[in-house]
Amino acid sequence: MQVIMNAIGGARVESRSGRTVPVYNPATGEQSGILGLSSRSEVEQAIAVAKAAFPAWRDTPPLKRARLMFRFKELLSANADKVARAISAEHGKTHDDALGEVQRGLEVVEFACGIPHLLKGEFARNVGPAIDSYSDRQPLGVVAGITPFNFPAMVPLWMYPVSVACGNTFILKPSERDPSAAMVVYDLFMEAGFPEGVLNVVHGDKEAVDTLLTHPDVKAISFVGSTPIAEYVYSTGTAHGKRVQALGGAKNHMIVMPDADMNQVADALMGAGYGSAGERCMAISVAVPIGEETGNRLVETLAPRVQSLKIGPSTDGDAEMGPLITRAHQQKVLGYIDQGVKEGADLVVDGRGFSLQGYEDGYFVGGTLFDRVKKDMTIYREEIFGPVLSVVRAGNYDEALDLINAHEYGNGTAIFTRDGDAARAFADRIEVGMVGINVPIPVPVAYFSFGGWKRSLFGDHSIYGPEGVRFNTRLKTVTTRWPAGIKDGAVYTFPTL
Ligand code: NAD
Repeated sequence: MQVIMNAIGGARVESRSGRTVPVYNPATGEQSGILGLSSRSEVEQAIAVAKAAFPAWRDTPPLKRARLMFRFKELLSANADKVARAISAEHGKTHDDALGEVQRGLEVVEFACGIPHLLKGEFARNVGPAIDSYSDRQPLGVVAGITPFNFPAMVPLWMYPVSVACGNTFILKPSERDPSAAMVVYDLFMEAGFPEGVLNVVHGDKEAVDTLLTHPDVKAISFVGSTPIAEYVYSTGTAHGKRVQALGGAKNHMIVMPDADMNQVADALMGAGYGSAGERCMAISVAVPIGEETGNRLVETLAPRVQSLKIGPSTDGDAEMGPLITRAHQQKVLGYIDQGVKEGADLVVDGRGFSLQGYEDGYFVGGTLFDRVKKDMTIYREEIFGPVLSVVRAGNYDEALDLINAHEYGNGTAIFTRDGDAARAFADRIEVGMVGINVPIPVPVAYFSFGGWKRSLFGDHSIYGPEGVRFNTRLKTVTTRWPAGIKDGAVYTFPTL
């Protein structure tokens, strides 16, 4: 049984808290590892190590930091397959999907290689007589990242490459459900030559998170996970004087206009609804066809595709989606399907009772499609985070827009149409942070920034890209004058030109 350890100051350290959790292979239901849950004092030790590493790292020229990042990028690229296997082994997603995850994380590392350019500030000569001003962006100190299970390599890579390239030292607290991929990437990071203590990994649960949220030496928290925890992390972290960006859950809608190509729409919905078994914060979980006729065509086109989804373990190269993350989550998703039936939605394709020969104990749920879902139903209001797509029929475009804008989440959304006017108005009026026009999963590339609106993000900054640099630095503005420019005598009035 693999024992998954912390990494503090460049060394692997086994937790001595006495509290552990099992880690499973979700395709088989077998335990594959054991993870120690760090105690408060163990997390405090990591914070002390990161704090000690900060002054030298802050003073390392940004270009030297970037050169290490280039080396890390090379190593990550060369080892993408290995990282993808580590992801799939504990998460269950298909190998190709895991490779895609690594690639999107790698792109943030590529962005971080160019951060010296973004740390530059502004300069102005003669802001007053013989007075010059300049500004630059300086690192914060120790920054911590707390990450979810669904992208065990990519979401950590959204955080620490940017933070570290800005000159911070970092503590990562990965999901306890699939912690190994983060460790494989950590080893590559250290192999690239980063100094010990610049990146540390502590595993754990609420006790570890609470330590990071309340410790005075942690200056900022990046969090990605479910909305209730995001809200808790935001309120607790900010109450303790920290900067916090806390990205939460989602319910992403896709409007299907009557003029959209239904085959393209169905393909898009299959990938965005069922890829990664629906366990993506940018998954489309609600399709909103405009008009009865569009709704009928959509359901007729989708249903056979959902029925014939290829479901299997990550080792099956033909599989289009894998199992869910845990037995408990599988049961929760099955419970949502029961609830949808009970509340009166039309169950067009039923994924309950799906079983795979040889993998009977895996946490699989079959692709599920509901039609005529109403906005007061539980399966519409709540994030299911499974392979369950709801069709909510709207009478017209304005109704669809109001539906989306009224939802508590505002992470991603999409519209499929050939009508440029409708698409432009949609992008303008929709109250959602990431919008796709004929693009079902509009995850911004690494040199833009990722973040939702409403209860999908607590805090002021989106993650990675230029917003990530702003989050991980603070602005300093210096006003300078040399003795030749100083006039005699004290000045008691507020300085003006
Ligand atoms: P989660 O909220 O259960 O866990 C996220 C992290 O918080 C983990 O590291 C976990 O250990 C920690 N945590 C859990 N309970 C805690 C508690 N009571 N106190 C302190 N810390 C706690 O989320 P998850 O199930 O791992 O991930 C799925 C969720 O993440 C979904 O809601 C999904 O939409 C969301 N997500 C959002 C984004 C985004 O960018 N907005 C991206 C990926 C996932």
